[in-house]
Amino acid sequence: MTLLTRFAPSPTGYLHIGNIRTALFNFLIAKKNDGKFLLRIDDTDLERSKQIYEDEIKRDLEWLGIEWDYCERQSNRFDRYFEIFDNLKSETSLYPCYETKSELDLKRKKQLNIGKPPIYDRSSLKLTKQDKKKLEENGIKPHWRFLLEQKKINWKDLIIGSVSIDLKSLSDPVFVKEDGQFLYTLASVCDDIDYNVTHVIRGVDHLTNTATQIQLINNLGGNIPFYGHHSLLIDLSGDNLSKRLGALSIKDIRNAGIEPMALNNIISTLGSSKSPKLLHTLEEISEFFTISSFGSAPIKFDFNLLNNMSSKILRDTPLKTIKKEFVEIGIPNKDHKTFWEAIRANLNTRDEISKLWNLCINGTTPIIDYEDLEYVRMAFKILPSPPYNEESWGIWTKKVSEKTGRKGKHLFLPLRKALTGKSFGPDMGKLLPFLSKIPTI
Ligand code: GLU
Repeated sequence: MTLLTRFAPSPTGYLHIGNIRTALFNFLIAKKNDGKFLLRIDDTDLERSKQIYEDEIKRDLEWLGIEWDYCERQSNRFDRYFEIFDNLKSETSLYPCYETKSELDLKRKKQLNIGKPPIYDRSSLKLTKQDKKKLEENGIKPHWRFLLEQKKINWKDLIIGSVSIDLKSLSDPVFVKEDGQFLYTLASVCDDIDYNVTHVIRGVDHLTNTATQIQLINNLGGNIPFYGHHSLLIDLSGDNLSKRLGALSIKDIRNAGIEPMALNNIISTLGSSKSPKLLHTLEEISEFFTISSFGSAPIKFDFNLLNNMSSKILRDTPLKTIKKEFVEIGIPNKDHKTFWEAIRANLNTRDEISKLWNLCINGTTPIIDYEDLEYVRMAFKILPSPPYNEESWGIWTKKVSEKTGRKGKHLFLPLRKALTGKSFGPDMGKLLPFLSKIPTI
């Protein structure tokens, strides 16, 4: 059987960094093992699912280079879920429950108050036919729970190792809500079986779901996939990252100018025994990736780590990868190699490339501190007109130094600020040959 992994986002919001961990792990396992990767849109919640979120999810994945072999959506499969629902109902594995949300909340509170775990007490199982009829005549619609067989479920998790969960400690999961909405617990299992999913990698928050889903798969006679549950990401103060979705949505990370391969390198190693490398393709990352090298402890995610990796990746990018960008900016072919060599070492984000090229073509407003005004005026008087070559900066600044006695930072910084409008940037010796507009001071 071909190895098949899947990423199953619900299109009810933007993807955040934790979701991408799930997507990337599944993608890399498929890639490493010549398998296939399925993108499954979990849109059974028709009210909260939105096309715009689905589009954004796809855009985020494409930006990262995570390509899917197939795309399916759960809303196309309601007939199939109904079929399973009817079968489970007829063999009494599903039972109708009539408690409202507030009744359930109250029950849970009472249990907690007397020190008991808040497990659903199966009261609805005791209702007679007549009780149910009466409730339904009063307009109360049931939700449907899966009757768990109370035994231990064991599996060898690809990340955590041996896991054993006693279903006695869990509430019977709701499979269908009052309004008829199928919850993913049922839909997901149904899909995993029908599509022959072989590996399910997801967050550790799904651990107990896995136990109930294994029981359902057994009940339906399907193959149990391999499961791997990765730990959750936390921020530096220890809070779960998902609480701060806005701050770490992939969309925001993209807009902040982070290199996609930096995110791929960090995410594919953070929390594992491996240190990130500067890898430029998902092919290389997949070869380096090992799911068993990950630990189960929560992982601190430091945005600075991503920023640093992003500038390293950008600076290390081969010219052939950046060429398309150069052509779009309008940098002539003959300048590609030398311009890239001139600027790469100081870049932090890609948008700085066009800004630098713009500086070269159109010049900028000089920055001159008041106390340096006379110095800069004098220096510019002895600066020949463009074009310049690699020696021009050295020759010029030597002359300026001889005339003024200035050295080091006092010599160079005012000239850099006057020429580029910034106090930092590429090596001026390499940049000067590209400057075609020199300000008049
Ligand atoms: N849509 C579910 C989620 O986003 C996927 C669950 C699963 O992996 O089965 O949590």
